[in-house]
Amino acid sequence: MKPAIQSSLIDELAARVRAEFGAGDFIPLHDTRLGALEAEAVAEVLASGQVSTIGEAVSAFEQALAAVTGAPHAVATNSGTAALHTALMVAGVMPNDEVIIQSLAFIAPCNAIRYCQAHPVFVDVDEDTLGMSPASLAAWLEANAEVRGDGRCWNRFTGHIIRACVPVHTLGHPPRMDEIVAVCRQWRLRVVEDAAEAMGSRYQDRHAGRHGDIGVFSFNGNKTVTSAAGGALVTDDEELAARALHLTTLAKQDEPWHYRYDEIGYNYRMPALNAALGLAQLSRLEDFVERKRALAERYAEWFDGTPYRFLREPAQARSNYWYNAFLADGQATRDAFLEGLNAQGIMARAIWTPMHKLEFYRACARGDLPVTEDIFSRLVTIPSSVPPQ
Ligand SMILES: *Cc1c(COP(=O)(O)O)cnc(C)c1O
Repeated sequence: MKPAIQSSLIDELAARVRAEFGAGDFIPLHDTRLGALEAEAVAEVLASGQVSTIGEAVSAFEQALAAVTGAPHAVATNSGTAALHTALMVAGVMPNDEVIIQSLAFIAPCNAIRYCQAHPVFVDVDEDTLGMSPASLAAWLEANAEVRGDGRCWNRFTGHIIRACVPVHTLGHPPRMDEIVAVCRQWRLRVVEDAAEAMGSRYQDRHAGRHGDIGVFSFNGNKTVTSAAGGALVTDDEELAARALHLTTLAKQDEPWHYRYDEIGYNYRMPALNAALGLAQLSRLEDFVERKRALAERYAEWFDGTPYRFLREPAQARSNYWYNAFLADGQATRDAFLEGLNAQGIMARAIWTPMHKLEFYRACARGDLPVTEDIFSRLVTIPSSVPPQ
């Protein structure tokens, strides 16, 4: 490590970021871009009085989402986490099932597995996608699983059913979805894609979230397009979508004046106020993604002149570059960048602590995780909002 060169590179990167986002104040990782369009959409719902889950706005948002992603069915929820929990439930995940997920993930999908009282199993990621490694997935299954005569995938050692797999589109970059889905089909696993960060990203010829059985999105305030808080799931399967809608609306039966419920449901429906905001934002998705991609290109060019690798979109993918990130040459350099950038009012963060390192997930089953450990020690995320024009 050469501290002198490094600190001048930190200052140069800070200048690069300020050239994009202005000389003034604190620069966050991801800011909202809200204007007259959003104000009008929200005002209209306010004037209608139908701010909650009743009204046109929620189904209009779902239709727009279906159109943008090419999915026949979309169900909007009040958070991405709620959509993940619902997706796992309708995928058939039951207490004591096992669900495979990458350890390098935001905590929400792993928690959602536990909400179903199922057990997470951690596999590794690929260095170029930051998403689930199909090789690591296949290796863990080969060492632990068998498909029995009942057509289910069983863990030979724990005696649990391995029900589903949750690849994550990390930082907006699509994983090797074709290979992951092929492994999951072979082992009879359902695929729930956590595309929470990947609105506007594509893999091969399809939108993110459209490669497995169910795809999940988040519209939280820090995502590429926002509904303040909110999420959605998309699927080809009409029955799964109907069941998701039912579960997210307290499993209330469709009756004219009685309140009757046919199971324990959830209050997970997106309110109209959020849907109107989300719909306005969705109409700007392509513009946002184009500008984010142009920003990523400028960052990539700058990093080409440094010893550090900027994370470019994977092969066969068109990424929304939700968060731009680079790999430092080690943990000390990573920490120097984190300290140096944040000290100058430029938000920079490490990637999430891998799930297997958290106290309450430490005992979960896992494969070998060398890439996860390496990426965690070196990755830095930098400001990634839609740049001003
Ligand atoms: C944001 C996010 C979620 C959760 O979405 P919320 O809307 O915040 O509940 C889930 N998974 C990933 C990968 C995310 O980035």
